[in-house]
Amino acid sequence: MSSKIETKCIHEGWKPSQGEPRQLPIYQSTTFKYDSSDAMGRLFDLEAEGYFYTRLQNPTNDAVAAKICALEGGAAAMLTSSGQAANFYAIFNICEAGGHFIASSSIYGGTYNLFGVTMKKMGIECTFVDQELPEEELAKYFRPNTKAVFGETITNPTVSVFDFEKFAGLAHSHGVPLIVDNTFATPVNCRPFEWGADIVTHSTSKYMDGHGVGVGGCIVDSGNFDWSEHAEKFPGLTTPDASYHGITYTERFGKGAYITKATAQLMRDFGSIQSPQNAFYLNLGLETLPLRMERHCRNALAVARFLQSQEQVAWVHYPGLEGDRYHHLAVKYMPDGTCGVLAFGIKGGREASIAFMDKLKVASIVTHVADAKTCLLHPASHTHRQLTDEQLAESGVAPDLIRLSVGIENAEDIIEDLRQALQ
Ligand SMILES: *Cc1c(COP(=O)(O)O)cnc(C)c1O
Repeated sequence: MSSKIETKCIHEGWKPSQGEPRQLPIYQSTTFKYDSSDAMGRLFDLEAEGYFYTRLQNPTNDAVAAKICALEGGAAAMLTSSGQAANFYAIFNICEAGGHFIASSSIYGGTYNLFGVTMKKMGIECTFVDQELPEEELAKYFRPNTKAVFGETITNPTVSVFDFEKFAGLAHSHGVPLIVDNTFATPVNCRPFEWGADIVTHSTSKYMDGHGVGVGGCIVDSGNFDWSEHAEKFPGLTTPDASYHGITYTERFGKGAYITKATAQLMRDFGSIQSPQNAFYLNLGLETLPLRMERHCRNALAVARFLQSQEQVAWVHYPGLEGDRYHHLAVKYMPDGTCGVLAFGIKGGREASIAFMDKLKVASIVTHVADAKTCLLHPASHTHRQLTDEQLAESGVAPDLIRLSVGIENAEDIIEDLRQALQ
């Protein structure tokens, strides 16, 4: 039965049979018992499916991954300890030393640093591109060793909307997959696979969890990218793995090849697992995700309109606003709404912005975004303070940019708070 997303949020993943717990059990166990040495041995050869050690797989985590997989419309998925781990694995699974990939320069600061600094030390090169460039210009950045293209559905913190069709076309005509971080939109508002993306990542720490209780991440594979067709680019998936008795992932696992490889190699060796307890909290968050996204979007639009009408406010970026530079892309890719995050600047620049933030009472200053409570942050003095002015400009973060994450309180109370602080 193909149900709607609200129903999937409740019923996908854990499907109890007669007499089993109604709610997802927390399998708080590092290990799992087997009756014979041989039965366990087959698991290590990836010949049989089953659980043996939570660093590789855990039933609670798998149920939650399966739910997110269903929400995105994917073929296979895995949870990770954080969004950072998800984005690292997503690239490293197909791009090793000597490889190159292309990423939008507007992505989240943490990912920008991971790709541009840390992965560079591993011999992997990332070219950051202005995502507004026309296709012909972007095509020039591809090299023979390019392995992937990476973007964010709605960028954190500049709330720019990614043009899926443009990038999917480019990636596929160069024989590489499109990987999209769908954290801000969530599958409730956007399903990147429907627009040509091949792999989706999430920081589940944001709207999916929704209450700011657990850091986590997820990778979902659509199963649509044909690795074998570009076998020479992706030997890790299309040639035998010596660490698993020479199995070839694409041959053995088909649409599950990419996620199986990421689990069997990267999770085995790096171990960035989500704890089953956190997966349980994440599952609770997912149950109410559609309700919350609707409210976040409605509140954010009301707040964006209010800010726009205030003379102390220099500018407001929110793709839901009719006059916004990304409104047309938002309408195309996210007709039901975008997210609760918006960016704005206050006249008087950096100092005025800081003075304003310190006056707020309902909204709090926290290094977080996208949960139930309205919060805000000044990237130039917080998340992005490691970046040089040049890098700030490149990622489109103005020095006066305030990132406001509108929560699910009553919109009038949020607006009243902003009003008194502006005054
Ligand atoms: C927060 C965030 C991340 C990093 O996720 P963590 O769970 O904090 O590691 C990655 N991408 C986006 C878009 C984010 O907002």
